[in-house]
Amino acid sequence: MMLHHTARILDGQETSKALLEKVRLDVEGLIGPKPKLVAVLVGENPASEIYVARKMKVAEKIGVASDLHRFPADIGEAELIDHIHRLNDDIMVNAILVQLPLPRHIDSLKVLDTVSVHKDVDGFHPVNLGRLLMGIEPPAMPCTPAGIIQLLDAYKINVDGMRAAVVGRSNIVGKPIALMLTHRNATVTICHSRTSNLDDILRDADLIVAAAGQQGLVKAEAIKPEAVVIDVGINRLEDGKIVGDVDFESARHRAGFITPVPKGVGPMTIAMLMVNTVRLYKAQHGQPIENLLFI
Ligand code: NAD
Repeated sequence: MMLHHTARILDGQETSKALLEKVRLDVEGLIGPKPKLVAVLVGENPASEIYVARKMKVAEKIGVASDLHRFPADIGEAELIDHIHRLNDDIMVNAILVQLPLPRHIDSLKVLDTVSVHKDVDGFHPVNLGRLLMGIEPPAMPCTPAGIIQLLDAYKINVDGMRAAVVGRSNIVGKPIALMLTHRNATVTICHSRTSNLDDILRDADLIVAAAGQQGLVKAEAIKPEAVVIDVGINRLEDGKIVGDVDFESARHRAGFITPVPKGVGPMTIAMLMVNTVRLYKAQHGQPIENLLFI
C-alpha cells in the first residue's frame, strides 16, 4: 500500500453548510408564511431523540418553522395514523417526517403510506419511491441518498460510466442510492448480508457506498486504488466514539475520495431534509422546483 497517498476528504460538514445557506436565502425570499416541518416521534429511542433534535435545530437556524409531535411508545397504530391524517389536512403543515424506527407493534410501512404524497419530506411514500424507480423526479427524495448525490456534485464527481458497489439494500439508503446512481449512468451492484464475494465486488468498484451498519466491513485492501468511498454507516463504539463501515484510517491511504464519519453523509442528510421541506412547500404553492437528480 502507498502510505504517502492520502484521499481527498468529502467534507459533508462544509458542503452542508453551503447548501443550508442557499436554503436559508431561499426561505428568506418566500412570500407568506414560512415552510413548516412537523416531526413525529414515538417512544424514547435515544438515537432518534438526538437525530430529531438536530433536525429541529437546523430548521430553526434557516427560518423553517418546525414542530415536534411526541407520542408514548405504547400509542396504538390507529391513533398514530389518525394523527398523521390530521397533519395531512392541516394547510399550515408542508412537510411531515415520521422518525424511524417505530415501535414493533406499529407497521412502519402502513404509517409511511399514510403520510400525504405531497408532504412526504423523507420521500419514503411508495408513490414517491415508485416515481424515483421510474425516473420521474419526485419533489422529495430520500434524504441520505439525495445528500450523497449532492455531495458528489459539490466535488464534481461524475459517476457516469463508473462501476458502483452499494453495500446494503434498505429502502431508506441502499435501494434508493442504487437507483439514483443507475439514473446517473453508473453500473451498480447491490450487495447485502447474503452476498458471498463482497470483497471481489468492492475491488472492482470505482465508487463504494457502504450502508450496512457493520464496523470494519470495508477494508482498505478491498478498495480499488483511487476509488470514491462513501461511508453511510453509523456504529457506536463502547467508548461512545462513532465510526462508519469503512476502516477510515487505512482506507484514506487507498481511496481517491472518502467521506469521514462523523461529518460526512450525516450533515448532508439533515441539509437535504431542509431542501426537501422547501421543495414540498414550493410544489404545494405551484412554484417551480429544479431537478436535483436528473440534471
Ligand atoms: P438496515 O439495517 O436497514 O440495512 C442494512 C443493510 O446492510 C441490509 O440490507 C443488510 O443486508 C446489509 N448488510 C448487513 N450486514 C452485511 C454484511 N456483512 N455484508 C453486506 N451487507 C450487509 O440499515 P440502514 O437503515 O440502511 O442503515 C445502514 C447504516 O447507515 C446504519 O449504520 C445506519 O445507522 C446508517 N445510516 C446513516 C445515515 C446518515 O445520515 N449518516 C442515515 C441512515 C442510515
